[in-house]
Amino acid sequence: MSEHLARAVAPQPADAAAALAQPEQLPGATLFARPQAARQLYKLDLKLGFRCNNKCVFCVQGDKRDHVRDLTTEQAFARLDHGRQTCDALLLTGGEITVRSDVPEIIAYARKIGFAQVQIQTNGRRLAYLNYCKALIDAGATEFNPSLHGHVPALHDGLVGAKGAFDQCVRGITNLVALQQTVLTQTVITRQNVTYLPQIARLLVKLKVAQVQFAFVHGLGTAALTWNDTVPRYAQVARFLPVALDIVREAGTSVICEAVPFCFLHGREWAAIEPRLHPTTVYDGNLEIGDYDRYRHEAGKLHGPQCARCTWANVCEGPWREYPERFGWDEFAARSDPLPRDMAGSA
Ligand code: SF4
Repeated sequence: MSEHLARAVAPQPADAAAALAQPEQLPGATLFARPQAARQLYKLDLKLGFRCNNKCVFCVQGDKRDHVRDLTTEQAFARLDHGRQTCDALLLTGGEITVRSDVPEIIAYARKIGFAQVQIQTNGRRLAYLNYCKALIDAGATEFNPSLHGHVPALHDGLVGAKGAFDQCVRGITNLVALQQTVLTQTVITRQNVTYLPQIARLLVKLKVAQVQFAFVHGLGTAALTWNDTVPRYAQVARFLPVALDIVREAGTSVICEAVPFCFLHGREWAAIEPRLHPTTVYDGNLEIGDYDRYRHEAGKLHGPQCARCTWANVCEGPWREYPERFGWDEFAARSDPLPRDMAGSA
């Protein structure tokens, strides 16, 4: 990552002090501006703040909670107005947005100004309260992304640093399914839960969610500090993830994975979400990443020496750069099989 980008992405103490003292109405610096000629409307990923009632060992934003002040309701509205000029779908995220009291108000405003889709990304704990679920739905939320990282309380609660979080999240998912909502879950693949991915898959199928996503941990924020305990090897992921993917798929439920390069997905390439990701703009603190696809390709992820002779390189983004920077490229093996016809078009 360039020094400039590293400075812009990671909050620095001086910037943080300024942000705490005087949050800006709109994001300040823009990185990877959205192309002027882009005709397609983007999805807006709006981070409302970084406070959270969990302390996940793998949190990619964990270092920001002490440095970046949450947006006020008015600032959130201003950013929605600004984002709506080029975006028609919205992901509200943090931090944990449900620790705020104004989330229904923000959802209602987003719908009022024309966002067709409003996704709520959450640790799922507050969804245990049925009336809260109803308030979000009444305000206009269209999809929910709760996170479940274990199949039993000890595993999930240990990973998120909060006793009782598993029971609350499971109750939250149950509430939303009973209310006939679209529930798209997220499970972060870590060293602690990688061998239990099949059991987690079975639980999520049993809970009748609409889609399961397994995302390889991104070693930034808290995950950078807990790296040795938290980041598994891809070789190990390649043993357990296919079993989990098959369990969900064979149950007739949609299943995807993120940040798992194709050399670890032989036979399960259909699960990789990257070639199908909606173009996205991110508002993160006082930073705007206009074209998040470009950010991933040019700054967030890396290709290694093997990738130069890999037949899948044009559709593969490679791993988050922190992984090979710590572990090297030895596990990665160039593929020589041709791209399937339906993917060759996107290469
Ligand atoms: S060798 Fe590189 S390009 Fe090929 S699948 Fe692996 S990470 Fe992707």
